[in-house]
Amino acid sequence: MYRSNKEIVEAPEVEKIGDEVIQNKGLALDDIGIAYIKVYPNLSKTKVATCRVANHREHFFTDGADYIISVSGDIWDNLDDKRKRILIWHELEHVKPEYSEDRGEYNYKLRNHDIEDFADIIEQHGVNWFDEMKDIVASFHDMDPDKKEKIRI
Ligand SMILES: [Zn+2]
Repeated sequence: MYRSNKEIVEAPEVEKIGDEVIQNKGLALDDIGIAYIKVYPNLSKTKVATCRVANHREHFFTDGADYIISVSGDIWDNLDDKRKRILIWHELEHVKPEYSEDRGEYNYKLRNHDIEDFADIIEQHGVNWFDEMKDIVASFHDMDPDKKEKIRI
């Protein structure tokens, strides 16, 4: 059995931004474990970052992560601090734990966006920040316009 040849790297610098965004934006995620990783060279050329629910084993091996936020290392290392923060804010908006009073535990869900972003982020940064991000990613990977339109976060 072959392992993926993608390299997974711990990302304390991404975690620090995540913690600051949670504080600054008042996101109610204090009880929630979030692990941050960087993947090299990238998740895929069209995937800047992802947020997913940690499975049972990931929860165990990460010392209790409920969610895993992954970023593409190549593009992350080329983003300025402001864009890193918006990107992580976007991923954190996907985190949607629902507390069940009956069961006394969280049901870990993901919030989806119908459009490419969340209303709070658009309100503060306008609708263009993701287009600018696409420009950066497309020029970094020298993409043609069709592929550029497939870029997701
Ligand atoms: Zn998203």
